[in-house]
Amino acid sequence: MLLLSIILDFNVKWTPLIRWSPFPILFSCIKMRISSQQLLNLPYRVLLSLVNSTLNFIYPPYCIICNSQLAENERIICNNCWSHAPHVLQSFDAFNEIKTKLKDEIYFSTVISAWEFSPIIQTAIHLLKYQSYKVLANRIGFVMAEKLNNQSLLMDKTILIPVPLHKTRTRERGYNQSTLICQIIAAETGLNYSDKIIKRIRYTQSQTKLNAIERAKNVENAFKVIFPEQVRSKLVILVDDVITTGSTMNACAKELIKNGASDVFLLSAVKA
Ligand SMILES: [Zn+2]
Repeated sequence: MLLLSIILDFNVKWTPLIRWSPFPILFSCIKMRISSQQLLNLPYRVLLSLVNSTLNFIYPPYCIICNSQLAENERIICNNCWSHAPHVLQSFDAFNEIKTKLKDEIYFSTVISAWEFSPIIQTAIHLLKYQSYKVLANRIGFVMAEKLNNQSLLMDKTILIPVPLHKTRTRERGYNQSTLICQIIAAETGLNYSDKIIKRIRYTQSQTKLNAIERAKNVENAFKVIFPEQVRSKLVILVDDVITTGSTMNACAKELIKNGASDVFLLSAVKA
């Protein structure tokens, strides 16, 4: 009882202070580290669930954007914040927009993006990519899978492929965010996916400060299809987090078409 009253007292008095201190980040780190372990034995899972429940009790999780307390089924960003991120309504418009930006021969027939660029989705992608908030891939992948539902796709003639990172960048980051998103889309749609078919063979500088022509030049011959038989006569849905001018995805699509893919769709979380 004494312990419980101490915890309750601590919770009431100190939670507001903890919210504005480095503690949230520390707690998140501890929680993420533990969750990422691959130890799946029962005593460990019981201990993990106890630690997580205790941490949630002492320090309830808050939305990283609006700072409101998260519900049981919410992770990192609350549903209310997600609902304020505007969706892309017409994939036909996205295709025309990218086609105009590219100023180059195009190797895809469709562009599907889930969200328009907005501060909320920009934060979500940043957290997924650079802050190891991998759980955000679930929500992002789920919404992207919904966007694919309008397309009539033949399961055995379609394959999902994430835009690959160079092995050096994968090593630096520890994962490819597009692969994480792709895995969720595959699970939601039942479509096959592979992150082994196409590789990035050249380390390229960041595209952010380059114009459309420089971007196309930067990614020229950066990709190589390793298993052409797996894309031959197939519709490839190329998956990435953000599409800006489309030059990276177009360079990938070029390699896929060259190696026998019948068509390529570009599927991105965000259209910037
Ligand atoms: Zn929120």
